[in-house]
Amino acid sequence: MSPFDFDLVVIGGGSGGVRAARVAAQHGARVAIVESANYGGTCVHRGCVPKKLLVQASRFPRSAASARGYGWAAEVADLDWRRLIAHKDTEIDRLEDVYERNLQGVGVQTFHAHARLVDAHTVQLDGDERRLTAARVLIATGGRPATLDIPGKEFAITSDEAFHLDALPRRVLVVGGGYIAVEFAGIFRGLGSEVDQVVRGPRLLGDFDEDIATVLARHMTQQGIRLHLGQELARIDKGATGLVVTTSTGSRLDVDAVLLAVGRRANTDELGLQAVGVAMDDRGAIVVDALGQTNIPSIHAIGDVTDRLNLTPVAIREGQAYADRVFGGLDVPVLDHETVPTAVFTSPEIGVVGLTEQAARARYPDLRVLTTTFRAMTLAFGGSPDQVFVKVLVDRPTDRVLGVHLLGEGVAEMIQFIAVALIAGATWQHFRATVALHPTIAEEIVTLKD
Ligand code: NDP
Repeated sequence: MSPFDFDLVVIGGGSGGVRAARVAAQHGARVAIVESANYGGTCVHRGCVPKKLLVQASRFPRSAASARGYGWAAEVADLDWRRLIAHKDTEIDRLEDVYERNLQGVGVQTFHAHARLVDAHTVQLDGDERRLTAARVLIATGGRPATLDIPGKEFAITSDEAFHLDALPRRVLVVGGGYIAVEFAGIFRGLGSEVDQVVRGPRLLGDFDEDIATVLARHMTQQGIRLHLGQELARIDKGATGLVVTTSTGSRLDVDAVLLAVGRRANTDELGLQAVGVAMDDRGAIVVDALGQTNIPSIHAIGDVTDRLNLTPVAIREGQAYADRVFGGLDVPVLDHETVPTAVFTSPEIGVVGLTEQAARARYPDLRVLTTTFRAMTLAFGGSPDQVFVKVLVDRPTDRVLGVHLLGEGVAEMIQFIAVALIAGATWQHFRATVALHPTIAEEIVTLKD
């Protein structure tokens, strides 16, 4: 007879925590999960899901412009922002219900409270006298947007608030050059805002292949997004008609909203981690081994709270693997981060898998780099200036494909399956042996020449 109330208490009801709790319960474990805000976490409420809906909303004016090239008298005018946000919220409420009902359906006890560790096997629920004891604790509390410590920082918003603005800002300054910054710059511009973007480095998307970042910057500039590279935000003041921002070079801009997208921090505050002695790194993320084990044997952590590869499907995979290993007794291989595909939902979007050219050159001296840039027939016919960019990296001695980098319409859907090929160890000869499917954008990948 176990001395604990539960076999597992999961702290955090986001994508990773929910998956771990559900699968552990399906393996027969007695499971509780504690969430202080909303089941579904960042992805469902303040990330991937609402972001994708806003991206879709922002693309209709582009589609309408293209439709005119096809003979339609199409116009898209007068965005009803409030209706868009209300409809998005209805969809998210529905998803949250589904998340919690799925947990309860497999017997997981769900709690709405802030959880704090008291010792290696005990969790205290705030605002509640209850303490939950468990053989194991899984921390899956995710992350939150970082902010900047500058004068006027209280006037800025982050991606959390951007999904709930009362009105679409007419003039927006986006700060940062990562995933969130470029996606929101594209959303606001597509919806009709004037957009300036301040990036402290010399380029966008510092972790991505340099060429694809250059091609993206060209498209964003063409769409009217004003990029200010090599500058930082120095201060924000209230002006007569909105906000006045000053950058590190002394430039001043009048805007209505300042969106900080300067990275994310692990949610490790007030979890009682110091008291229990859970090791954290200098950015406050929980230190774990390849299996998510912390320095305390009964405590594991998964997802963004460990600040490794901060992507929803990675957290889900880690949650599934934890539950399968610990409660299902399965021998689950460690996830290979190098073959995780990722997309950036700019317009046009980016899809990548594998090594960047810079990383590949460092490890594979005899590298073959195949690239092409072209205009897709159907877009060009509609008058769109958008280009498609393709880069494939091949290790010449083994012919193995090391990385594929795409920018263009629909490439997020393509890269999912190119990742299958890379995981299967595909060579460039395999790509070349595949007969082109005509007329598509994807055929240009398999017909690519040096
Ligand atoms: P990123 O790490 O992608 O980018 C952070 C950006 O902020 C970088 O340009 C960085 O510049 C800049 N920055 C950091 N500190 C400062 C500072 N003090 N002043 C000015 N600029 C600064 O973080 P995001 O917030 O965009 O996204 C967080 C994570 O969320 C991503 O890593 C990603 O994994 C995930 N995500 C995934 C998405 C997807 O899959 N489509 C979409 C959105 C987010 P520098 O390069 O110089 O450090």
